[in-house]
Amino acid sequence: MSNSLPQVSFVIPLYNEESNLGALVDRLIQVIESSDLAIDVVLIDDGSQDRSREILQALALQDSRFHVILLSKNHGHQLALTAGLSVARGTEGVFVLDGDLQDPPELLATFYAKFKEGYDVVYAVREKRKEVFYKRWAYFIFYRILKKIANVDIPLDSGDFSFISRRVVHVLNQMPEESRFIRGMRTWIGFKQIGISYDRQERASGDSKYSFGKLVQLALNGIFNFSEFPIKFVTMLGGFAIFSSMIYFISVVIKKFFVDEVIEGFTALLFVIILFGGIQLAAIGILGEYILRIFFQSKNRPNFIIEKQILNGEIK
Ligand code: UDP
Ligand code: MG
Repeated sequence: MSNSLPQVSFVIPLYNEESNLGALVDRLIQVIESSDLAIDVVLIDDGSQDRSREILQALALQDSRFHVILLSKNHGHQLALTAGLSVARGTEGVFVLDGDLQDPPELLATFYAKFKEGYDVVYAVREKRKEVFYKRWAYFIFYRILKKIANVDIPLDSGDFSFISRRVVHVLNQMPEESRFIRGMRTWIGFKQIGISYDRQERASGDSKYSFGKLVQLALNGIFNFSEFPIKFVTMLGGFAIFSSMIYFISVVIKKFFVDEVIEGFTALLFVIILFGGIQLAAIGILGEYILRIFFQSKNRPNFIIEKQILNGEIK
């Protein structure tokens, strides 16, 4: 089937996942061979420093069901996934998962069945998360804040693990956003979407490849790309400050005329100066987050750079 088009493509970004590759590939092969569908796999190496790149290239040269894309450096999970979506050819859709086996590839049949019922996006909803407690809490709170403030109704506790129909992949490929929050973009596109619950497994081997910094960046992309709330909030805060200062001013004037006693505290003054200094800096920071995104977007750089690709067993 190497040159005829597959119905479904797996798309899996990988960063230093050497220790998971063996098990991942075995399980993928099992899924492919036990399914009636024509399936291929797009593995994106996001600039790994371990032996992943050699292993992946050898695999793609020997088994043409596996296509491998090597990015020029570490671009981050969202951009690696973007690169994968751009080359995946599955005519019916793609199945996106992580490479650490937290998202079981065997669930394809369940997701595909929902797709066949007429859903363009079938996303996974984590019932339980086997993760350290602070990370579970951070995710829990983040998704609930995002739900409150985002312009699109991004489903709670769902990540990128999903089956996406060809037409939705097509739209995603047309979206030039450089600061990508794919689960949000996927929701924004619309069509019929549905969640399927699953127990998120523990990472099979190795440590998380999402550093704290990368995770914060992802969260900020979620908030600043899908919400104008931070800006509105600053405006409200400004309004509140003006209103309270007016009240204060009036009360001082009344005191002056009727009680003839104006006691002004130096500490109170200092407190107010520091408070509003802080609020102003935070406000500039919030503005900056939006401006930064405009700045980077306006450069119009490509979202990812492919160093080498092996498609259908051939080096491109
Ligand atoms: N990943 C990637 N680039 C990165 C970080 C992660 O391609 O810069 C991949 C990683 O190899 C994995 C997936 O993205 O297949 C999810 O990452 P990870 O499991 O480390 O995140 P977590 O599950 O801890 O949130
Ligand atoms: Mg993981």
